[in-house]
Amino acid sequence: MFHRRKIDPRHIAVYVICMLVLIVLLPYASIKLFPRILEKEATPYGGKIPETVEIYITKQDKSVTIPFEEYIQGVVASEMPDSFEEEALKAQAVASRTYALGRINAGTDLCDTVHCQVYRSDNISKKVKDAVNDTKGQVLLYDGNLAAHALFFSSSAGKTENSQDVFSGTFPYLVSVSSSYEPGATHKKETQTMTISQFAEKIRTAFPKLNFGEINSSNIEIKSRSEGGRVSEIQIGSQTISGTDLRSALDLYSARIKISVNRKEITLTTSGSGHGVGMSQYGANGMAKKGKSYREILSHYYQGTEVSR
Ligand SMILES: [Zn+2]
Repeated sequence: MFHRRKIDPRHIAVYVICMLVLIVLLPYASIKLFPRILEKEATPYGGKIPETVEIYITKQDKSVTIPFEEYIQGVVASEMPDSFEEEALKAQAVASRTYALGRINAGTDLCDTVHCQVYRSDNISKKVKDAVNDTKGQVLLYDGNLAAHALFFSSSAGKTENSQDVFSGTFPYLVSVSSSYEPGATHKKETQTMTISQFAEKIRTAFPKLNFGEINSSNIEIKSRSEGGRVSEIQIGSQTISGTDLRSALDLYSARIKISVNRKEITLTTSGSGHGVGMSQYGANGMAKKGKSYREILSHYYQGTEVSR
């Protein structure tokens, strides 16, 4: 015999409530109660800074292993004058720590020259040590990730550059910003004059593979400039080269170049010093003098970033 079972509506109600709790309320409660779990999953930067680093000391042709923060002290002491404001030195410490960590994470060996960051082990002032200690372990983050390309340079003469206008990579935090306060900046204006034939000789030597044809006063012309005001392209003879290439060919302080040409001579005037991408050190010092904190300095020159912790 077949008994038809009667379904109890109370059972259905209990079932529906159980499913609601399982599918909706439990996940919702866990997000509300443990938001950090989700945040951590969204941020690949786990805050891991190595205790020690190995640095290749070029002159001695050997590597030394030193505490990471001691390395940062030696970098800040070498990369920024310790006459600079404390907040500027702190900004430099965070930028240098971030850049070093980026290279370590990328598996690059660290050396003590401009190839990585200049480092020395002696003559480190208390002021520099304090700036590093006060920011111990702090790095720059963009969208939760290490802002690994925290580049810096000496002075901008007014405006920094978009990364992609100078180097190959595009990074959202390396964008052109104003750099209004650069008191006492060295290399504000450098001028050199040479004959057209001396100029042509230097260019041909720097680019032996390019055929420039005849180089004369009528075919030397700046074709375009970047957002930050540096030369993007310049025509020389029958070729067009980048401002960065011209800068290195003539060993100029920056690619923010003005050119005036007459029949016999060329005069090149540069303003600012360095590649122009990221933090202007003189600009950082100027902002510090105006009362800005290292966090404000860093978030200005590295747009959209924040200091960890
Ligand atoms: Zn290196």
